[in-house]
Amino acid sequence: MDTAFFLTWIEEVAEAVRAERDHLTELDAAIGDADHGTNLDRGFTAVREALAGAPPATPGAALVLAGTTLIRKVGGASGPLYGTAFRQLGKSLGDAPDIGLPELAAAFEAALAALGKLGGAAEGDKTMVDALAPAVRELAKAALDGAKPGDALNRAADAAAGGARATIPLQARKGRASYLGPRSAGHEDPGAASTALIFDALRRTAQR
Ligand code: ADP
Ligand code: MG
Repeated sequence: MDTAFFLTWIEEVAEAVRAERDHLTELDAAIGDADHGTNLDRGFTAVREALAGAPPATPGAALVLAGTTLIRKVGGASGPLYGTAFRQLGKSLGDAPDIGLPELAAAFEAALAALGKLGGAAEGDKTMVDALAPAVRELAKAALDGAKPGDALNRAADAAAGGARATIPLQARKGRASYLGPRSAGHEDPGAASTALIFDALRRTAQR
C-alpha cells in the first residue's frame, strides 16, 4: 500500500463524510449538539486542500498532515481525537514508501492507544472507540492469519460497522452524550458511525 493508496483512502473518506454529513449531524442532534457531520466535513475538506497544496512523499507524511489539519480545523471533541489517531498512524508508518498489512495493523494499534490516552474512553463507553477497537483487533488478527490486505480490510470494516451498531443500546460514559445519562441509550453514537465510514472507505480503496 503506497502513498497513492493512502491518498485515495483520504479522498474516499472525504467523499463519504460529505455524503453522510447530514446523517452524522442527525445522529449528533439526538445525543449531542448536532455538529458532528459539519465538523468532519469541514475537517476533511481542509485535509484535501492541505494534501493538494503540499503533496506528501510517503504514506506516513500524508497521514501526519491529515491528522495535523484535523486538529487545526475541527472544533469539538472529534477533531483532536481523530487528528491524534491519524497523526499516530502516520508516525508509526515512518518514512516507508510501501506499507504491508502487519505494519498497517501495528500502526492502527498505536493510533487506537493514542486516541484512548487522549480521550480516556474504553470500549463500551459509547464513543468512536467502540468501532475503532474491534476494527483494529480484526486487522491484527487478519495480519497474523497472513490474510491479503483486501480481505483484512474487508473484515476490519465489518467489525467497525458492527461496533458502531452495537453502540445503540449503550449509555454514554464519555463526551457530550454522557450528560444525557440513560437518555443517551437508543441512539447510535455519531463518532462510532463516522469511524465505520472511515473503515468502509479503506475497504473500498483496497477493492479499487
Ligand atoms: P463534540 O462532542 O465536541 O460536539 P463531535 O460532535 O464532532 O464533537 O464528536 C462527537 C463524538 O466524539 C462522539 O460521538 C464520540 O464518538 C466522540 N467522543 C467524544 N468524547 C470522546 C472521548 N473522550 N473519547 C473518545 N471519543 C469521544
Ligand atoms: Mg457534536
